Amino acid sequence: MVTARPVFPRRIRAFEKGDELYVVIDIHTHTQVAGAEFSPEVVDAARRAASDAGIDKIVYLFNLGTGGRDPSEQDIIASNDLGMRLTAADPAFFIGFCYLNPAHDPAFTLAEMDRCIMHGNMRGVKLWVAVHATDARLDPIMERAAQLGVPVLHHSWYKSTTWAHNESSPAEIAHLARRHPDTTIIMAHLAGVRWRGVLDIKDCPNVLVDTSGGVQEAGLVEYAVRELGPERVVFGSDWPLRNFAVQKARVTGSGITQEQKELILGKNAVRILKLNEVGGCDHV
Ligand SMILES: [Zn+2]
Repeated sequence: MVTARPVFPRRIRAFEKGDELYVVIDIHTHTQVAGAEFSPEVVDAARRAASDAGIDKIVYLFNLGTGGRDPSEQDIIASNDLGMRLTAADPAFFIGFCYLNPAHDPAFTLAEMDRCIMHGNMRGVKLWVAVHATDARLDPIMERAAQLGVPVLHHSWYKSTTWAHNESSPAEIAHLARRHPDTTIIMAHLAGVRWRGVLDIKDCPNVLVDTSGGVQEAGLVEYAVRELGPERVVFGSDWPLRNFAVQKARVTGSGITQEQKELILGKNAVRILKLNEVGGCDHV
């Protein structure tokens, strides 16, 4: 039997009062639930795992296993419905992003953004590997995200072989960023794009990188902070594919200042998600 347990209530209260104490926000997580079925147990399992690692809030991107690499409209709706239900169940803990497939009819995609962000409780957009970031079919999504004032978190990785479906490299993320300089982009997987990926997006001020990815190599977080500045790096774990505590340790164990760690672990996410503004998003 799983029992509910509060997540750092003292820290959350301090955050809501605007005190100096910062919250730790994981900007890159998923669920892995058969059929994208909501249940209180899913909420509780995520909350307990994050709490054990000292993480206060998590961003839900999509449900793993719903639709694969080229999800249907029904898959998109199911994944987003789950995200909105999780957030409604615990809005102090979950922040939902709207999962989209740019290959779909833009009429559906833009209506889904309005359903989830304008009229729902979501605060960002997630794009995975359905189409490349250089594809013009992303353009209406990026323009609408800028209008709504929400960021777009886009998958990225550098590989020499076995690219997954239409997986995007950081160079393609830079192409997207230059086409849409008014849209905030979070490029996923610092530990997948590594040094070359950091350099690719260095001259795109609208791109941040999340710290998730594969096996960490010494000096990588420090390098990203040096090249991009601490305001352009955000903590992400890719839970439940990766372990919350291990992923958080990439940041806490790096050779950067406490101030820089606080930006990466929470303060940058508060800024780009507008969590400390009345109403939270531009469109509210
Ligand atoms: Zn992920």
